[in-house]
Amino acid sequence: MRQCTTCKEWKDIDEFYRYRQGVEKRRSQCRACRAAYAKKYRDRPGVREKENTASRSRYIASCRNLGDRVDHSALEGTRWYEEQQDRVSELAARHQWNVMNGTEEPLCGN
Ligand SMILES: [Zn+2]
Repeated sequence: MRQCTTCKEWKDIDEFYRYRQGVEKRRSQCRACRAAYAKKYRDRPGVREKENTASRSRYIASCRNLGDRVDHSALEGTRWYEEQQDRVSELAARHQWNVMNGTEEPLCGN
């Protein structure tokens, strides 16, 4: 059993997400509190507006930069090119994952 630092309830260890840096390798918030936190973050006033303004254009610009970096038709089909493509999708996937977990701000609609 472990006590959640947010709701103060004692819950089974399985109710806490695994977290490498945490005590007993678990988060100090239970799943329910963690989910509520992530939802609150997403619903926070300003997050949505930001998506449509400065951050959005910044993200689009950075997406474009990433795209530019791999848009070399002469290199298409080379090992280097494929590695760069993998890297771009990996970065995008990681960004989406972080947004879902509330550890990164959504910078675009994706
Ligand atoms: Zn809790």
